[in-house]
Amino acid sequence: MEKLKIAGYWAASCGGCEIATLEIGDNILKLAEAADIVFWPALVDFKYHDVEQMADNNIDVCLFNGAIQTSENEHIARLLRAKSKIMVAYGSCSYEGCIPGLANLTNRDGVFARAYRETPSTDNPNGVLPQTSYQVPEGELTLPEFYDTVRTLAQTVKVDYFVPGCPPVGKQTWAVLEAIIQGNLPAPGSVVGAGTRALCEECPRTKEEKRVKAFFRPHQIIPDPEKCLLEQGLLCAGIATREGCGALCPRANMPCTGCYGPPAGVIDQGARFLSGVASIIDSDDLDEIARIIESIRDPVGTFYRYSLADSMLRRARIK
Ligand code: SF4
Ligand code: SF4
Repeated sequence: MEKLKIAGYWAASCGGCEIATLEIGDNILKLAEAADIVFWPALVDFKYHDVEQMADNNIDVCLFNGAIQTSENEHIARLLRAKSKIMVAYGSCSYEGCIPGLANLTNRDGVFARAYRETPSTDNPNGVLPQTSYQVPEGELTLPEFYDTVRTLAQTVKVDYFVPGCPPVGKQTWAVLEAIIQGNLPAPGSVVGAGTRALCEECPRTKEEKRVKAFFRPHQIIPDPEKCLLEQGLLCAGIATREGCGALCPRANMPCTGCYGPPAGVIDQGARFLSGVASIIDSDDLDEIARIIESIRDPVGTFYRYSLADSMLRRARIK
């Protein structure tokens, strides 16, 4: 049987999804039997022109991780889309924007000012910033253009399947690869490698009535190891997050931060999380409600940590 041709790519992301593919463990031997890697810069030394020379639809499956934040990210996304029969948004950055998507709270100038001038560890007395073109005696040096707005892969090219997670857990990654190898994928457009319900459904913690007088950050309390974390005032995103990871974080006494994206049928994960949290505030007194709300630090990073770029808000308005 002819082997599948697979490709992988890493755009605006931390690289964790590349490493996470190794969590398939021994199944990597089955993958090697069934598929050849034809492009995957983090694993094998291919060049962009190798892909440019391929016929369209030459690659059977491309696992694309990372958001679209530069002209290079966009160019390779379009190139791999043209060369691939199946395009998979693999991991939260390509699916929803994830942490790179929080750059949508500002724009390129804001990102550059923070990264190249303001951080305590920056040493840049001349205020040098990246430029797309720079002349040196030997010729012109170029860099990709850095965009004002981070986009998801599906906001850039047509995507066939979405694999959530930051990163996707190993057993789910293998389930997706096995489905690809066996030609057993669901309808295009589906989220694969996860369930459809909210994470609370697979979380083993006891759930009772949720009434909360104050919210805490994880380092501020030692929670009861058996009870629902949200009922103890920890902002657990399980109520607005797709099941599939096995509730890894709540099992480790840490609240879910929402990396598996919204459950089926939920358009905006942050709005769902926010409305769930608003509904459990235990007070009718406006001053007390204001104090309880003030105990929520970093609201955007809490409610839209992974999904800002893919949300109904998309980005902050910059005056
Ligand atoms: S809110 Fe969090 S801790 Fe509570 S049941 Fe849901 S996933 Fe578990
Ligand atoms: S519990 Fe939440 S944050 Fe943790 S791995 Fe699962 S979906 Fe991601």
